[in-house]
Amino acid sequence: MTYANIIVDISHEKLDKIFQFAIPKELEEEIMVGSVVQFPFGTGNRLTKGYVVGITEQCDYDRNKIKSVTGVLAKEQGVEQEFIRLAEFIRKNYGCTTLQALKTVIPLKQKVQASEDSILSLKLTPAESYKLLSIYQEKHYKAKVRLLQALLDAPNHTLQKSTALKAKQATTPVIKSLEEAGVITVAKQRNYRNPKGGLRQSQELSEYEMNLTDHQLACTDAIWQDAHSYVPPKAHLLQGVTGSGKTVVYMELIRRTIAEGRQAILLIPEIALTFQTVERFQQLFGERVSFMHSRLSKGERFDQFERAMKGEIDIMVGPRSALFTPFKNLGIIVIDEEHESTYKSETMPKYHAREVAMERAAQNQGFVVLGSATPSVESYYAAQMGTFKLYQLPERFAGRDMAETEIIDLRQELRQGNRSVLSRRLYGLIEDRLAKKEQIMLFINRRGYAGFVSCRSCGQVVKCPHCDVSLSLHNHGNMVCHYCGYETKVFQSCPKCHSKYIGAFKAGTQQIEELIRREFPQARVLRMDMDTTKNKEGHQKILSVFARGEADILVGTQMIVKGHDFPKVTLVAALAADMSLYANDYHAAERTFALLTQAAGRAGRGERKGIMLIQTYNPENYSIQAAAKQDYQEFYQQEINYRLLSNYPPIKNLLAILITSMDLESLEKAVLQMKNQLIQADFQDMVLIGPADATVTKIQDYYRKVIYIKHQKYDILTKAKDIVEEYGRKYLLGGNIFIQFDFNPMNTY
Ligand code: ADP
Ligand code: ZN
Ligand code: ZN
Repeated sequence: MTYANIIVDISHEKLDKIFQFAIPKELEEEIMVGSVVQFPFGTGNRLTKGYVVGITEQCDYDRNKIKSVTGVLAKEQGVEQEFIRLAEFIRKNYGCTTLQALKTVIPLKQKVQASEDSILSLKLTPAESYKLLSIYQEKHYKAKVRLLQALLDAPNHTLQKSTALKAKQATTPVIKSLEEAGVITVAKQRNYRNPKGGLRQSQELSEYEMNLTDHQLACTDAIWQDAHSYVPPKAHLLQGVTGSGKTVVYMELIRRTIAEGRQAILLIPEIALTFQTVERFQQLFGERVSFMHSRLSKGERFDQFERAMKGEIDIMVGPRSALFTPFKNLGIIVIDEEHESTYKSETMPKYHAREVAMERAAQNQGFVVLGSATPSVESYYAAQMGTFKLYQLPERFAGRDMAETEIIDLRQELRQGNRSVLSRRLYGLIEDRLAKKEQIMLFINRRGYAGFVSCRSCGQVVKCPHCDVSLSLHNHGNMVCHYCGYETKVFQSCPKCHSKYIGAFKAGTQQIEELIRREFPQARVLRMDMDTTKNKEGHQKILSVFARGEADILVGTQMIVKGHDFPKVTLVAALAADMSLYANDYHAAERTFALLTQAAGRAGRGERKGIMLIQTYNPENYSIQAAAKQDYQEFYQQEINYRLLSNYPPIKNLLAILITSMDLESLEKAVLQMKNQLIQADFQDMVLIGPADATVTKIQDYYRKVIYIKHQKYDILTKAKDIVEEYGRKYLLGGNIFIQFDFNPMNTY
């Protein structure tokens, strides 16, 4: 017997329960995930419509009481079916519950109040109202007095309900009672929130003319042709240096797709949604394009989705979650800066936008374009293997030069008595740029963990003898490997050169800002990091101040070098390029290379030539060397060799299972049992590492352990996941142990 897991209604808040029905033999062939079926529902057994979200042999209820599906409804083609299949894909491949997966992909309608505002208008004449007001005052109806007064003061004697509630401290019962007393009318008002804020309307922008260069046109045509060929590649990888016109190629591909009556999604890393991007798209596509960013409220986001569903827009530009825009006939998904780690969800289900995009495109006979100056090693490898196809734009538009790069050896500085984070060369260049009234960007790449231990004299970083990742300093004074649990006392002197300048690396943006202000009191300094961009427009504000030339130096984390175009910047410096190199995961070199290359792309975007300084304790490191030459090939060759040697993705797939609990003892027991279950399953060639402490061993009283599994085949990893899930279902019923899965990356070749 097979059973169908069914949701009765989707796209509503009610999406919180899955019902199970038996599938009669005669319908077995017909019913698939995504099918629309009928079944008797509720106490009255009313025939009801629902969607199949899963098919299973396991009955979760009393077998004898379970009802049966009575029929499959004629093919109702809708975006719902596609999304249910997408949710199933996510559940199966990333490990989560069906509900979690559904909630990830289906644009949930938010409570009506959240997306619909009402207008309160005074029904009485002002004279009548004033009379009533004095009566209310006599009776001390304070809330009613406030609301009535506010309406009398308001233009046209009308108020938005939301304003009345927030600013005028009215309450819903008060509004209701005035409505019932015939004092005011309350009218629903559907307003699509405009997430563009203060932007110009598209009519005000001049018509945009696209004249692609020969190179750009050749790339566009090639991608277009291959996408429409008999056996298209799974994705089209467009590698182009910053400023080569990748965006121009995206726009042309999107234009052609829309001309065919289909829709487009452009994913960008959150940080890259600048006024520049928005305006370029509006110039070309006018009102048919919509933008999303993570700071939209859920209601605002739903509005944008609803516009897509109604066919009011053709293009959605936004971060990861824009991938789930419910277009009916999606033709193209572009992922810009495809190497960015923000494309992977940090919460369950930890899906990767690239992989889900390929699945969505496949379901729609559409195609995926991945763009980057520094493609992820996975994608480039897939292109080498022939699953993806590579297209290149090797030159900047209009022949603009790439910035010059220079590596500064900080060990040398220390040897010559300079213990500041500013090398003498950098110091001199800052003075020079300030004198010339040119702009400067200084950043630290702090993405990794500041806990690694390094020698400031020789650059040596303390690594795990078993895992080739850096050890992290813990509070208790030991250095720990988070991959295998290896632990050792922190060294007092460098094992290589015996210098005593060995320790954990610490330097924050704030300290750097202070230092710069002290050293260059005449400079106008801005700082941009997590702290200064917390509130809604913080980010955009700082950037526009800098873009307008109202500051000379922008200090920040890596977020400052991503995606922005500042023509007056002629000096960019990575203050300690090593910092991201020793994050204890295998992506560290890749991230460092991408970041430094991108930073170099920031320098000299205008007429004047720029320079990029890379300050480092490890000038020999291949990712730093290759970044200084802006040579992707050189980097990739070294990196893929390293991955081959250590069996890291994309050579093998990697599954990290994170298990957390407040109760350390039962956690330790559970992880060992899980490990045993996995060993018993006896998958050939499976490499199992751990259990070990997670990078952060404890968060908010939850202890964290990890098990790593490596295997050539992705589906062995999903099987391993199923075993652990099954174990969890059977033995961890108490609910005090939590399991999370993190797949890296899906086999795309
Ligand atoms: P990328 O996305 O590769 O960094 P962009 O598409 O942003 O490159 O192009 C860089 C700059 O060059 C932009 O200011 C863009 O307007 C300009 N540009 C590129 N190609 C063209 C073109 N064919 N015609 C006019 N301007 C172009
Ligand atoms: Zn040393
Ligand atoms: Zn180790």
